[in-house]
Amino acid sequence: MSDAAGFDRASARRRLLERVVAETRETAHLTGCHELSERVLRAMEEVPRHRFVPAEQLDLAYIDRPLPIGRGQTISQPFIVALMTELLRPHPRATVLEIGTGSGYQTAVLARLAHRVYSVERIPELAEAATRRLADLGVGNVEILNADGGLGWAEKAPFDGIMVTAAAGEVPSALLEQLKPGGRLVIPVGQQHRSQDLRVIVKGEQGKVESRGVLSVVFVPLVRDRPLI
Ligand code: SAH
Repeated sequence: MSDAAGFDRASARRRLLERVVAETRETAHLTGCHELSERVLRAMEEVPRHRFVPAEQLDLAYIDRPLPIGRGQTISQPFIVALMTELLRPHPRATVLEIGTGSGYQTAVLARLAHRVYSVERIPELAEAATRRLADLGVGNVEILNADGGLGWAEKAPFDGIMVTAAAGEVPSALLEQLKPGGRLVIPVGQQHRSQDLRVIVKGEQGKVESRGVLSVVFVPLVRDRPLI
């Protein structure tokens, strides 16, 4: 990377962060999230998004847009990554489950905030590439599994928080079961080929579930490989 490219990238990153902060404010009346916490902002600042996008998309890495990563999948829009992370509120001792590793970008952001992150991806090539990428970046507190994330990751449960980065027709019951009492699930719910409802679901200490719609979003579908029974 030349100095000029490095300089451009640094200023593009700064502008992107400003955009994400502004967008958080602009959507606060819908999301209830008026500002990003210091921890989330720092994680967004520190994770190099250009390491998660394909070479031909490098110039667009610090634009606030989702980008194609192959196999018909996308790396999420930075604002949505920041918002979903803020809504999940992982604490430093938290064990978090992510469904839909994709590029591993959201995984890396979560890994800076939580104690341990487990992430499930159904496309083997993406799971492998993300595993390699995170290892190259020295992210050590992450484990990636190639499987149907609609089933959660029972061996590693229960989780303090679960984030789903693909759109589910309905909330998979396995995910609710694998959430600790007091835990949160952040998930886009709705049909594919249209916008979905980003929902924050909180499992009360007695197991009672409360759900609130936050924002209209567009995600690729959560594909279920096995029939639901
Ligand atoms: N968080 C990712 C976004 C990836 S897009 C990022 O920032 O890059 C959603 C991902 O969910 C895709 O990679 C897709 O293959 C994956 N996915 C879809 N259905 C799935 C399922 N049932 N289990 C696990 N992953 C799934």
